[in-house]
Amino acid sequence: MKMLKLTLCHLYPELLNLYGDSGNVLTLVKRCQWRGIDVNVINHNIGDKTDFKDVDIFFIGGGADGNLGIACNDINSIKPQLEFAIEQDRVLLAICGGYQLLGKYYKGKRDTVDGLGLLDFYTEAADKYFVGNIVVDTGDYYLVGFENHMGRTYLNGLNPLGHVISGFGNNGKDKTEGVRYKNVIGTYLHGPLLPKNPKLCDEIISIALKNKYNIEDLQELDDSLEIKARQHTLKSINNKFISFA
Ligand code: GLN
Repeated sequence: MKMLKLTLCHLYPELLNLYGDSGNVLTLVKRCQWRGIDVNVINHNIGDKTDFKDVDIFFIGGGADGNLGIACNDINSIKPQLEFAIEQDRVLLAICGGYQLLGKYYKGKRDTVDGLGLLDFYTEAADKYFVGNIVVDTGDYYLVGFENHMGRTYLNGLNPLGHVISGFGNNGKDKTEGVRYKNVIGTYLHGPLLPKNPKLCDEIISIALKNKYNIEDLQELDDSLEIKARQHTLKSINNKFISFA
């Protein structure tokens, strides 16, 4: 049987990597390799002339306001390639600051950063950080993570990734967390997100395999360790949440 291979592009790995966000790339790679699926990881940094046409999964992490400002010019220069990829149903996972850059703008405490405008939402910094563990109900499964952001994101009617069970989410008011449009997944969940959320990680891998090879089934893995990690965080928030593991 031909070796299955996916290409993952990590956008601005040195610049946007808060609270272990690059661990999401490691998790995607390992959960593919454990299934005998090869993964080619391409790093795209400021000024790189990267060929994005064969990328199956894009990843962008979070960052401090200043780093978002540094990334914004370069990411706007690759907007056409990202738009094309999104319309081709490729996966884009964006965490916190990287998520904010997908919208129209991020109005920080000092400067306003022009977002890509790929999605019709906006973010404005408030006076205090939303910090702490967070639990989100996507409707299919629960996500567990850690949030730490000044930004308040308003979706303008776009579908959220999920609804906040515990924590703050997009803006601490409308109980939405993140955004989901086609295979674009934006979220405030750091941690990193994917090691403690194997169902989301496997959903991303499944989408990429379906797009590239029209493969529907994904081999199950032993997630007992991941479930223990989820239970630990859920119990630390509220004993009643243990059933969400
Ligand atoms: N600097 C942005 C904010 O505070 C993003 C922070 C992050 O990526 N964790 O909202």
